Amino acid sequence: MSGLERWFVLQIDIYGKKDIKMIRYKFLDTSIHEMNIHPNSIFSKERELARMFVSQLEKNNSLVYCPLCKSGNAELFFEKWGQKYYLCETDWSVNLLPLPDQKIMRDYFFTSELAKFRSSTEYQELATRLRQGLWSNLVEWIEGRVRRYVGMDKYHVIDWGSKFTGWINRLEKAHFISNLNMEEPLPPVKSYESTVQADLICLLDVIQRTTNPHELLKKVSKKLSLNGLLIITCRSGSGFDILTLREHSDNVFPLDHICLPSPKGIQKLLEEHGYKVLELTTPGLLDVEFVKNAKGKIPSDQYFQKHLISQFDEATLERMQIFLQQNNLSSHLRVVARRVEDRK
Ligand SMILES: [Zn+2]
Repeated sequence: MSGLERWFVLQIDIYGKKDIKMIRYKFLDTSIHEMNIHPNSIFSKERELARMFVSQLEKNNSLVYCPLCKSGNAELFFEKWGQKYYLCETDWSVNLLPLPDQKIMRDYFFTSELAKFRSSTEYQELATRLRQGLWSNLVEWIEGRVRRYVGMDKYHVIDWGSKFTGWINRLEKAHFISNLNMEEPLPPVKSYESTVQADLICLLDVIQRTTNPHELLKKVSKKLSLNGLLIITCRSGSGFDILTLREHSDNVFPLDHICLPSPKGIQKLLEEHGYKVLELTTPGLLDVEFVKNAKGKIPSDQYFQKHLISQFDEATLERMQIFLQQNNLSSHLRVVARRVEDRK
């Protein structure tokens, strides 16, 4: 049985906690590794281009508040390339603060050397080749949520903030889609806006790069029909690898990562905008691998993590990853929510 097939024969416990169905996944897919997401040569170049862009930004020390819960109760968590990440003590979200302005955001994601590199054919083709397994897995997961919460028909879908042409090609082949629109994509994906409300909106790895999650949710809600489904994937700031590695995490950096909500933070955000959260899970596979690969860079005060990585075998590390998944402590967050109320 392949790792991907195992996804569907997991031990799944469904139990009610308040109104939310918490679905627990117990699986480890040995075919998914950091290399599939971040192949070394390409990822080093991306990171270097991002560092060059960010390093020339003005250092700003203005007042900080959490863009999710608006609390000013934030602790400086770490600095990277001259930019500061704060940990919100109210909801444990991690945010880049103060937030970059819209011109900087536009330059970074649309016209910078990094944006040009990411929209190149070479980069897009490599992503398509390496991410096929991940994307098939994601489409199957979304299809499962659609069948469970919406029905067996075909539906109008919007992919919000798409950044890979290969992902769009894969998604549009999905059985549950009647028509597919793309809103606010990054280059080279072309915008194809919907004139009507959709049944389903996918917001995949988008919240983490927004400076205003409330504004984003308002825009998304205008394009999603009442009772429509919102599917979210996002990096979570309260995940194991992020809390452990801080500035040493290779895969968390400005401005790709601005707003990293905790499970609690994202749930509150969705409820404020009239959504009912149906599922909230962190089925991440890679937290322990990220920490293991960063072995020499684990901060010196993280004794538990250093002990775990240096003294225990693979089987223990796998069990640790399963524990993180089961308790929503991984940094890969997935949420399924239904738009149940019209909020302005
Ligand atoms: Zn907060």
